[in-house]
Amino acid sequence: MNLNAYPPTVRELIQRLARLPGLGEKSATRIAMHLLQSPREDVFALAHAIRGMRGRIQTCSRCFHFTDQDLCSFCADPARNTGVLCVVESTADLMAIEQSGAFRGRYHVLQGVLAPLDAIGPEDIRIKELLKRLKEEEIQEVILATNPSSEGEATAHYLHRLLRDRGVKVSRIAYGIPMGGDLKYIDRVTVERALKGRMDF
Ligand SMILES: [Zn+2]
Repeated sequence: MNLNAYPPTVRELIQRLARLPGLGEKSATRIAMHLLQSPREDVFALAHAIRGMRGRIQTCSRCFHFTDQDLCSFCADPARNTGVLCVVESTADLMAIEQSGAFRGRYHVLQGVLAPLDAIGPEDIRIKELLKRLKEEEIQEVILATNPSSEGEATAHYLHRLLRDRGVKVSRIAYGIPMGGDLKYIDRVTVERALKGRMDF
């Protein structure tokens, strides 16, 4: 697509939008055209929201989830179970668990996983901070909810070795057959995990 036909300011917007996940030049152009035709105050409100979000958002000083306060809403919520800690790779994973409504404890966001090939070691993710929390808070159980990728598994194993002698129960979330799934179409590793993670009926 030849963007030179657009005025430079519009061209810049299209190029910046096109770098966002899931957008290419075509959809970026469509959004830019939509914004050009929208009421000024709507477009300014959008720009203001983006600027405000980036300016005020920081990570929670305890769990490393995003927040605009010192503590995030989960750490600050007295109704949440303080004895159970769910360890996740990222805020996106935290949100997925939260939206399930199945967990009412607190979180710890590692902000990554161990990836030796990319030279990401234990000191590059929030493991030190996790150990500090185990000393300072009354945590009885740590649920390792890293993803079932090779890095996620390696991170869970590493944390299990690190935590098992510290007087807390360490558990790993079960992965298995998705609801509505069909065994014959599911990969071998997933079936194996589902069998290993089986529970009493
Ligand atoms: Zn927090």
